[in-house]
Amino acid sequence: MIPWGKPLLFGNEYKFISNALKSTWISGGEYVKKFEREFSQLIGTKYGITTSNGTTALHLALLGLGISKGDEVIVPGFTFVAPANAVIYTGGKPVYVDVDPKTWCLNVDLIEEHISNKTKAIIPVHVYGNVCEMDKLIKIADSNELFIIEDAAEAMFSKYDKVFVGSLGTVGCFSFQSTKTITMGEGGAVLTNDKELNEKMRILHSHGMRQGKRYWHDFIGYNYRLTNLQAALGCAQLEKVDSIIKEKVRIYKRYLKNLSNIDGIYFQHIKNKIDPVIWAVAIRINPDFFKFNRDIIMVKLREKDIETRPGFYPFSLMPIYKAPPMQSAEQISKNIISLPSFASLSDEDIDYICKEIIDLMR
Ligand SMILES: *Cc1c(COP(=O)(O)O)cnc(C)c1O
Repeated sequence: MIPWGKPLLFGNEYKFISNALKSTWISGGEYVKKFEREFSQLIGTKYGITTSNGTTALHLALLGLGISKGDEVIVPGFTFVAPANAVIYTGGKPVYVDVDPKTWCLNVDLIEEHISNKTKAIIPVHVYGNVCEMDKLIKIADSNELFIIEDAAEAMFSKYDKVFVGSLGTVGCFSFQSTKTITMGEGGAVLTNDKELNEKMRILHSHGMRQGKRYWHDFIGYNYRLTNLQAALGCAQLEKVDSIIKEKVRIYKRYLKNLSNIDGIYFQHIKNKIDPVIWAVAIRINPDFFKFNRDIIMVKLREKDIETRPGFYPFSLMPIYKAPPMQSAEQISKNIISLPSFASLSDEDIDYICKEIIDLMR
């Protein structure tokens, strides 16, 4: 059985976790500090704070920027739901903007018509590892005085103009959940170059307690802290970051080589400025070229011991989000299949998966 996702543990994870246990520092501790230092340095920001997961990272970023009741935040119509949920937690309102049918990322040309006097921020989600058109997006944000909260959970180590994503906006958010490019089981991070914002987020992520004055609270804070045990995993993973990136790139290229010239199968369009590290390779199929529809294809692949995942449902089709219809998001999402892309997936397995997909074509 080829699973859709699987964490790759190299060895020092065991050693570092047992060091953390032996130290008895199992809430906060040195591994948390080490990871915050090393991860922010690697991505290229001055400051970094770890959080309990990627969703709390997004919520913390919004809180740090003062997003609250009545504020509007631009969110793409096609993404994992976390960024919209985080906006809703603040009492703010996600304003959904359709995605580009080729890149599957936020369609920057549609942003300005959705900006009102209540708009405070944009959350570009770098979906599956592709990157939004950040130069245009930054221009729009600057001219409308909006914050940019990059959701880089799926694009860890993707680069835009030679710079790691997550360092391009006001604040960048990451997830270290078990399927993500590097993992701690659960975990997240917020990165920024803004000293004041960093200090505010640090206080809010630990109960709102004033630093240097124990049990004195200036804010209604949260407990969004990462544990030292999780950070120990993260530190071990960080040591292997070059080989993780290498494997992810290998996997993506192998799928491209096997499938990108086939009519009826389309990959995300990656623009020139982007060096992607694809988190989950996904194809969009044209069902006319296949014997079955997307959902049946996934069942047929499962019968061949290949686990796949569908595209995210667009907000516009989930009543709870009350989003307006969104043509591109709806069109792409129903025909996306995301394929096994974990770092230890072999070339032979990729070739097998591709052969089985082609076998389901007319
Ligand atoms: C994984 C993910 C998150 C964060 O998820 P957690 O499970 O809370 O760590 C946020 N946004 C996107 C786009 C994601 O894929």
